Amino acid sequence: MQFLENFKPELVISSPGRINLIGEHTDYNMGYVLPTAIENNITFSFKKNGSDDQCNVYSKTYDTGFEIDLNKIAVSKIEWENYILGVLNEISKRTDKVRGFDCIVESNLPTGSGLSSSAALECGLAFGLNEIFELGLSKLEMVQLSQTAEHTYVGTQCGIMDQFASVMSEAGNVILLDCRSLEYKHIPIDLHPYKIILLNTKVSHNLASSEYNTRKQECEQGVAIIQKKNPNVKSLRDVDEEMLLAAKEEMSPVVYNRCSFIVKENDRVLEMVEALKQNDLEEVGQILYKAHDGISKEYEVSCPESDFLVDFSKDNAQVLGARQTGGGFGGCTLNIVHESAVEDFTSAATKAYKDEFDITLEAFEVRPSGGTTAI
Ligand code: ADP
Ligand code: MG
Repeated sequence: MQFLENFKPELVISSPGRINLIGEHTDYNMGYVLPTAIENNITFSFKKNGSDDQCNVYSKTYDTGFEIDLNKIAVSKIEWENYILGVLNEISKRTDKVRGFDCIVESNLPTGSGLSSSAALECGLAFGLNEIFELGLSKLEMVQLSQTAEHTYVGTQCGIMDQFASVMSEAGNVILLDCRSLEYKHIPIDLHPYKIILLNTKVSHNLASSEYNTRKQECEQGVAIIQKKNPNVKSLRDVDEEMLLAAKEEMSPVVYNRCSFIVKENDRVLEMVEALKQNDLEEVGQILYKAHDGISKEYEVSCPESDFLVDFSKDNAQVLGARQTGGGFGGCTLNIVHESAVEDFTSAATKAYKDEFDITLEAFEVRPSGGTTAI
């Protein structure tokens, strides 16, 4: 693309990925989540180009770009373009202040690995345009319009967690977010002498694939059945194990298992907050293992590769807990590993994984980091 020659950005935005310590698939069930941004991020370099409506966006990651006419925003056949177009479409509903711009996207965030490169892409664009065109959008508006963009242009009926974590995180904290009221609290996290180590299975899920949306529908089916006896229930967030058991006979085993996972997973978020407050790291680890068991057996969004790595970690006394993080079907497992054992653990896991699947996994430490910012 022509603009790449002699490109001098006027604004650079860092838009981070995220991990979720606990609370998987609870966001679209209006429950609690406990995510934080990580240092791995997408950077956006922006420059106004003087035109009224012509924009150029280039992804270094994919070594490809496209032109956009702001008067003709429509869904593209090319998946990644829809994250950009969806955000522009949502912004155009709120303001007409956006003008032509050029933008380069670079990333050190693995895509499709459960670290939410999609939300980083949406929110980084919204954040940058808000700055250079002085749109006056609040952080929460940027979070919400990015989520809507993913629903309408990409077709993933995602909850609000990923965008919220990418924008609102603070270094050294996880966010306890109530996905119904959107009230949130930063909870300090200090796992010393343990570290958070991600093992990337390199098996890619695609959240836009039908499974994510199917899970959402199954949860809604469960709620509809429970509502017959409990009219005040609005989502699985309002359901306890007793209510669920009372409705069990009317549910298919699959719907029951999905609901059972969400009800317990939601409780685990609050248990995790307590364990962090008490500095009970053994308990932190146990909660992760219980969660993975549910992810795998009840919610069925794991895969042999993630299960293998979580099981493998159980043989190492220096690992307190592990689970698959993110929407599912691969991506990364999150492991709480003693600092003295990180190298031994990651090299043993790499070897065992290679022997089992013939895939070279990627291991890296992540730290709870701050949200989207200009750099
Ligand atoms: P995750 O959010 O866990 O990374 P998703 O499937 O939700 O997985 O989103 C990944 C998609 O986001 C990619 O397939 C691509 O379309 C888009 N994407 C992420 N990072 C980039 C990038 N650097 N350049 C272009 N598109 C990207
Ligand atoms: Mg995503």
